[in-house]
Parts: sequence; C-alpha cells; structure tokens
Amino acid sequence: MRRRNFLQLTALSSFALGVGCKQEKPSQYAESMKPVVIATWNHGLAANAAAWKVLSSNGTALDAVETGVRVSEADPQVDSVGYGGLPDRDGRVTLDAAIMAHDSRCGAVAALEHIMHPISVARLVMEKTPHWMLVGEGALQFALEQGFKKENLLTPQAKAAWEQWLATKTYKPTINAENHDTIGMLALDTAGHVAGACTTSGLAYKMHGRVGDSPIIGAGLFVDGDVGAATATGLGEAIVRIAASHLIVELMRQGNTPEQACKLALERLIQKNPHYKEIQVGFIALNLQGQTGAYGLQKGFTYALHTPQGNQLVEAPHLLA
Ligand code: ASP
Repeated sequence: MRRRNFLQLTALSSFALGVGCKQEKPSQYAESMKPVVIATWNHGLAANAAAWKVLSSNGTALDAVETGVRVSEADPQVDSVGYGGLPDRDGRVTLDAAIMAHDSRCGAVAALEHIMHPISVARLVMEKTPHWMLVGEGALQFALEQGFKKENLLTPQAKAAWEQWLATKTYKPTINAENHDTIGMLALDTAGHVAGACTTSGLAYKMHGRVGDSPIIGAGLFVDGDVGAATATGLGEAIVRIAASHLIVELMRQGNTPEQACKLALERLIQKNPHYKEIQVGFIALNLQGQTGAYGLQKGFTYALHTPQGNQLVEAPHLLA
C-alpha cells in the first residue's frame, strides 16, 4: 500500500513537472508513453528521426533501432561511428556493434573492417547464425557472404587526423571535446516491445584489435523484455568493469527509475575505476512504461529523446562537479 502510494505520488509529481517545462524533465514527462526512442549524443537527433518513422508507423523497436543507428554509421561527419570513424593506430577503421531484442536474442560484431553498417551485420549474426558474435576476418567474411559491399571507410578527413596524430603523437582525447561518440539507441514500440542497438569505431588510435564495451552484451548494451534496456558510451575499459548496461537493467528491475539506475551504476563505476576523474562515461536507459533517464560522469553528456511530443536534445545530469 505504501509503495503503491509512493508510485502514484511519483507519477503525479512527474506529470506536474512535465507540464510546461519540457526542456528540464523530459525523462519524467515521457512516462507511460509509447512509442519512444532515446539515443546518445547530438547525432542521436538525426538517428532518432529515422527510428521514429519506423515506430510511428507501428514498426518494431528492433527495426527502429537498426534503422536509426544506420544514420550515424553512414554520416562521414560523425568521426566515432561507421564511415568517417577515426582509425586505430595503424590507420585501420575497425568497427564494433551490437543489437538486442525484447526476447533476449542478440547479435554482435567486433573489429569489423570495410563494412559501412556493422549494426546490420550484427542483426544478421543474430538472425542467421547459431552464434551471437563474430569478429575480425570472420565477421567480414560473413558480411560479404550476406551481400554487404566492401568499402573504404577511412575518409580523407579521418586520414588527415590520423596522419597528424602519427606525426606528433600528442593527441590526447579530451573529455567531450568533440561531442560525438558511440551511438547507443533504445526504443519502445507501440506493441510494448523494447530493443537496443549500439555501434562505434571505438577509441581513436586504439591498438589494432582493441574491442571496447559497445559490442559486449551486458556492458555496452542490454535489453530485458520484462524490464527495459540500457546502453553506454564513454571509456569502454571502465564500462566493462561493472557490466554497466546489465547492471542498470537489474537496478530498474529492483524498482529504480531509469535515471536513478544510471546514477547508481555510475557510483559503482567510480568505485571500480580509481582514475574516474580523467574519463567520461554516459548511460541512457528506458523502461517498459516509456520512462527514460540518463546520467553522465562528467558534465557535457547529451542525449536525444523522441516522444510523441517531438525530438529534442537534452543535457544529462552529471555526477562529478
Ligand atoms: N564506448 C566506446 C568504446 O570504448 C567509445 C565511446 O563511446 O566513445 O569503444
């Protein structure tokens, strides 16, 4: 009884907060809304718009997230995902991606080269193989067998940046300086099913063969059809230490809102990563009621939220001053 009162109160105050202050509390006023799609960073806006076309015509959340993140993968201006992504230290663009459905089916690729849409390869790994992940040459071979085109993904712009890095080796990633990172996207469709996708070129100038959190189910992405979904961006080496996306979903299962769950996961991340002040991490989450939430470790983490009220960019709350 007490708990029910609390939940009702939360719902009422959330509604009150939502009216007339759209910019401040998008995660609250989205309550009980379907469909909804949320994605990391500024480039999440364009990705959301594509996902929304699928969702608003009663498409599935799974189709929506794949369609959505393909926009960032194909955009040469987004230098941390797909085509135009910054290469590893050997000048090779290697891509990681994962996708997960409400019924726990999942697929992923890691260290995949020459294929513009790793998310679609990940989906086919899920749908057409008995496995969940393919990496490197094996992933490329599978993609080619499935009819994907082999392409040069290193744009002149990314090549020039890499050559400059090679010449000076002084490039040190600055937290959020470029404000475009991995795209993680979560959606709830009109049928009430949730799905997620995550795709990245990973850390610029990483060692060849390095794989981050993004294609790792439970770390960079997790979906549970009974609870909701979460995805991550930021330093993969820190995120995997706490299996962050799985943790966030479990925290929601225990009754936390998506925002609370993201915040609690960041508190855990701090405990397990002594160098936390030097890194950035951002989480977004969505539950089956259509409530969304996000939290960044440092200031500057943004996300895009599309509800029936529209598509907007929001700055997430952050943990550190
Ligand atoms: N999480 C990604 C990785 O570690 C990078 C990012 O989100 O910027 O590969």
